Amino acid sequence: MKDYYDILGVPRTASQEELKKVFRQLALKHHPDRNAGDKASEEKFKEINEAYSCLCDPEKRAHYDRFGTAEGFGAGQGPFGAGAGFGDIFEDIFGDLFGAGFGGQRRQRPTKGNDLRYDLDLTLEEAIFGTEKVITFPKLQKCASCNGTGSEPGKQPEVCPSCKGSGQIRYQQGCFSVAKTCGKCSGSGRIITHPCKQCKGHGVVKEQKTVNLKIPAGVDSDSRLKVSGEGEPGHYNGPPGDLYVMLDVEEHPFFKREGTEIFCDLPVSFTHAALGAEVEVPTLDGSAKLKIPAGTPSGKIFTIKGKGAPRIGSSQRGSQHVRIHIDVPKKLTPRQKELLEELAAISGDETGKSFKNKLKDLFTGVEN
Ligand SMILES: [Zn+2]
Ligand SMILES: [Zn+2]
Repeated sequence: MKDYYDILGVPRTASQEELKKVFRQLALKHHPDRNAGDKASEEKFKEINEAYSCLCDPEKRAHYDRFGTAEGFGAGQGPFGAGAGFGDIFEDIFGDLFGAGFGGQRRQRPTKGNDLRYDLDLTLEEAIFGTEKVITFPKLQKCASCNGTGSEPGKQPEVCPSCKGSGQIRYQQGCFSVAKTCGKCSGSGRIITHPCKQCKGHGVVKEQKTVNLKIPAGVDSDSRLKVSGEGEPGHYNGPPGDLYVMLDVEEHPFFKREGTEIFCDLPVSFTHAALGAEVEVPTLDGSAKLKIPAGTPSGKIFTIKGKGAPRIGSSQRGSQHVRIHIDVPKKLTPRQKELLEELAAISGDETGKSFKNKLKDLFTGVEN
């Protein structure tokens, strides 16, 4: 016959409080979570569990003291096999040790408010040089009328009659009491009897919020700005959430951007490309001059330093890459036509000739 007092190491005269204290110490020491794979500890844990589940119940204890057995009282079915939630029992016995970690949700724990997202479109110029924007968006805010209490001014919420303000309902399961969140007050422990007319008792109202944003130079389409504390209000004095502004940079009709580099195509007349010229090229900072040497072919790329985009937090800028695109005139005046025909006559068909020669060179190698 097992001696339950021996197992727990207490005298037969031990009070219920002493029993609970000792069981608590032993259960902590031998708990399987702390002794993974340790068979001896597991056995010991089962034993103390069985001993305590008998002795903790005064009726069972009296029966055991008298007959030296707990039979007839369902002995052996310890508190951890009794069907009650494991966490609930630990909450009851070890509540102050494990805190909310074991017992699940603690009522009225301060929690951070929800984060908010705002999508903001920027022009390429705004993204590259930075800008200031004023945005307005709907947001839950603490009700000013009741200062977030949810009760009409001058009225106080009443203590919940179901849970007496604890936010939890305790019920007995075997010799353990088990806690459940109170359904009447949803765990808040308070009942609002006179709801605020402004917020209907919620303590928050949806309002349009305006925020001034400073967009730094160099942002791009995947950039996001965090505005701390501009999310929804926290619960139970928790901090408010944050506002995330997701940036999207619009396509530009002339410039393409890749990181700090800017690309563009520049139409140049055939004569300018042939003779060389100083042409005007648009940049993000306005018009700039670009020298094109004589004989510039179509597709040639010129780089203008310092006309690209900066990295965020840096004043150094990338380059602008200008790709020359030779513009062939569609309409010619009679005089232009005359001159071009003359040009063609004196230059023969030079381009065509050299091209034919190249082709010939290419194919002589493979001719049978
Ligand atoms: Zn209110
Ligand atoms: Zn309640």
